[in-house]
Amino acid sequence: MLVNCEVVGCKARVPQQLEEQRRCILHFTLELEQTCMQMRRDTAIGGTRRERYDEMRKYMAEYGQKLAQLATGGVGLTDETKARILSTFLTLMNCRENIERIAARQENERRIG
Ligand SMILES: [Zn+2]
Repeated sequence: MLVNCEVVGCKARVPQQLEEQRRCILHFTLELEQTCMQMRRDTAIGGTRRERYDEMRKYMAEYGQKLAQLATGGVGLTDETKARILSTFLTLMNCRENIERIAARQENERRIG
C-alpha cells in the first residue's frame, strides 16, 4: 500500500511502519518532539494526575518502539534521517527522565501533605 504523508504540503512517502500514523519519518519525529515538549510543559505546571502520568509513559513506550522499528527496519535511511531518529530518541529519553523526576517529587509532596 502506498501512503503519502498527511501533513499539508508534504509529499513524502510514508514508510510501512508508519502507515497507521500516516506520517513520513520527518513529520513523525517532529510531532513526537513537539508532544514531548508539551508533556514537559504540562507536568512542570504541577497538579498532574497519576492517570495522566501513566498515559504519558504509555505514549513514550509506544513511540520509542516505533522509532526503534524505523531505525532497524532495513529501509535505506539517509545519514540525515538517521541523525534525526537519534536526536528524537534523545529527546524522548530526556523527556521520560524529566517527567519521572516531577512525578516522584509530586508523590513525595502528596505523602507529606
Ligand atoms: Zn511529511
